[in-house]
Order: sequence, then structure tokens, then C-alpha cells
Amino acid sequence: MTPSSTTSSGFGTRAIHAGQEPDPASGAVIPPISLSTTFKQSAAGVHSGYEYSRSGNPTRNNFETAVAALEGGKYGLAFASGSSVTATVLNTLHSGAHLISVNDVYGGTYRYFTKVAVHNGVEATFVDLNDAANVKPHFKENTKLVWVETPTNPTLRIIDIRAIADYAHEHGALLVVDNTFMSPYFQNPLALGADIVLHSVTKYINGHSDVVMGVLVTNDPAIHEKLQFMQNAMGAVPSAFDCFLARRGLMTLEIRMQRHAANAQTLAEYLEVNPHIEQVIYPGLPSHPNHDLAKQQQRGFGGMISFRVKGNLANVNKFLSNLKYITLAESLGGVESLIELPCIMTHGAVSPEDRAKLGITENLVRLSVGIENIEDLLADLKQALDNMA
Ligand SMILES: *Cc1c(COP(=O)(O)O)cnc(C)c1O
Repeated sequence: MTPSSTTSSGFGTRAIHAGQEPDPASGAVIPPISLSTTFKQSAAGVHSGYEYSRSGNPTRNNFETAVAALEGGKYGLAFASGSSVTATVLNTLHSGAHLISVNDVYGGTYRYFTKVAVHNGVEATFVDLNDAANVKPHFKENTKLVWVETPTNPTLRIIDIRAIADYAHEHGALLVVDNTFMSPYFQNPLALGADIVLHSVTKYINGHSDVVMGVLVTNDPAIHEKLQFMQNAMGAVPSAFDCFLARRGLMTLEIRMQRHAANAQTLAEYLEVNPHIEQVIYPGLPSHPNHDLAKQQQRGFGGMISFRVKGNLANVNKFLSNLKYITLAESLGGVESLIELPCIMTHGAVSPEDRAKLGITENLVRLSVGIENIEDLLADLKQALDNMA
């Protein structure tokens, strides 16, 4: 089955079959992991498409093809981490370029923009894009990129990808969307006008908290060519073994995302009426300020919930340590439920003033809802909340 023949099939079918063909040599239904670093040439410069595994590898190629098919894009490129996708994209900009980023962008992305790219002469402006029109006054002659993440982290605000894409293109800038929180199952930014979509594969795409990896997808051959050149030149490529694991995780993305979202909706509704809870932020709740935009732009609401617990930091810590199944740890998107305290953990490096502006209070917790049985997650939250005083 060629990749193009799978683009019209269903999501779950593409997740299993795109790029993945039985091994022609043995008939193995799951192709073997291609660990070789180099490939035999029949004459100097004559080869079957692979020369050296940094520039191209069959196991990586299988994964890249599959993610591209799920994002509705032509070209996928995999990297050693989500952060190395950011670094590689930013290195296509030259000194003197400007970019506009959503203000509550992933912490590592913020760090790259403000502590690394700036020294290469690339300037970033951070803007609250919850109202898309806010982007307008920030364009400059040299604005090359707009960088968006939606839903944002950890306050789960939704940004109108189509509107931002239109503003970016009016000003000759490209739109990059970090789609990690939604996964390609719930949102396809390319179809909404984005030029590049990226993922931390570490999260939902691999889904089992055992691989650090990144991927990007584009439909534009010129952008692809530039980024493929950078992928090879910068060399932040993933191992074949990690590509194999991520490809295996990807096969179940559809049913995992369905369960993540169903569990999250149930927990969000439970928490919203719980007397120990001050506020629940989940795009699937009608009380979410961007609920209508989420319904329009996404095919579901995902597995991430943020909520404010009633009480002080000591109560919140007691609640977190009371949990039995839900594990206190950073990261998200795995089959197991993880909870974290952004003000100290993922967003501890954000200044107290910026945390206050973003609404990252001491009682705000972020829950990555896993795919365990819902009764057990409900019981776990209930006992932990009832005993936090
Ligand atoms: C984790 C994450 C990243 C960074 O990816 P790594 O694989 O950890 O390097 C980027 N964006 C978002 C939204 C993330 O959650």
C-alpha cells in the first residue's frame, strides 16, 4: 500500500497502515527495525533511496510517512525530541528575523526563543492570542514566523488557527502550530491554514512515556526541502529503535485518544461540581470561555484538564500525595494518568509576575488523564480531595 493510497482511508486505518508495509524479504508483517547506519550502493552514487541513516532511514521513514498521513500533509520529518524540531525550524531563520509567539507557549520553546535564538539575532515578541486580532499590531517588516500552541499550557485557552493563519499570510509570514496537546486525531492545523505542524512525539503520539522524540509535517515542497536539509545538517535525528517504538504507539492513537477524551470529560464534569474545587478548565465544558471555538476547530476536547483546588499550597500538596493511581510527575499524553503542579514543576522557571499574568496560581494543578478505568480515576480523585484538609 503506498502512502498516497491511504490518505482517503479512515484515521485508525492510516495509523496502522500508512508507510508500513510487510518486509519484502521475509514477509514479516511488522517490518524489522533498520539499525544499519549505512546502505550498500550497487555502483558509486547508485542506491535504493538510502545512503546513511542520518540523512534517511527506513524505520524513520515509515514513522514520518504515517504521521504525515494523519496530519493530512505530504511530508513528515522526525527529530530526536520536540525541542529539536523547534531548534531546527528556528535555524531556517537568519539573523535580523522577527517572530511572534503565543505568550503561554511551552516552557522549553520560550527558553529556546529567549535564551538561544536571540543570540543568533532572531527576536521574539510574545502576545496573548486568545483574541486573534491581537496579533495585528505586532507584525514588522522582518516578521517571518508566527508560533502558536492550542490549547495552551497549562490554562488550556484555544487560539483560532484559521484567523491567525490569515493574518500571518497577509504579512508574508509562515504559521507554525505545535499540535502536541490535541494530537492529529483531534486537530489538523494544516487544514486550517498552518504551514508547519509539529509534535512532541514524547506525548500522545508515542503515548507510552518511554520515548523522547519530535516530528513535523508540511504540505509545501519548498519548506520541506529546506527543513529536510536542516534535519540532515543539524543532525538531531531519532534512533531507529525510538522510531519503531513511536510507530507502534501510533497504531493505537485513535482508540487511546477516544478514551483519554471520554475519561477527561467525565472527570471534568465530576470536578466542576465538587465542593473542594474552585474552578475547572476543560475545553469540553460549556463553562470554558472558548468552548464554541474548540467545538468548531477541534474534533474533540482532548485529555488535558487544569483545575484550581480550594485551599493553600499545603492542602494542594496533601491532595497530590494522597493520590494512588494518578502519579505526580511532569509530562503528559501517556496511557497512565499524570498530575503536576505547574507553579513549581513545569512552569517553575516562569517569573512570578508572568505566572500571575498567565493565571498559574499555587492551587492550579494540571491533569493528563490516562486511559485507566474511569471508576478507579474517580475514586482516586475523591479520596484524595476528601482527605486533603
Ligand atoms: C513536551 C512538549 C514540547 C517539547 O518536546 P520534547 O519532546 O520534550 O523535547 C513541545 N511542545 C509541547 C506542547 C510539549 O508538551
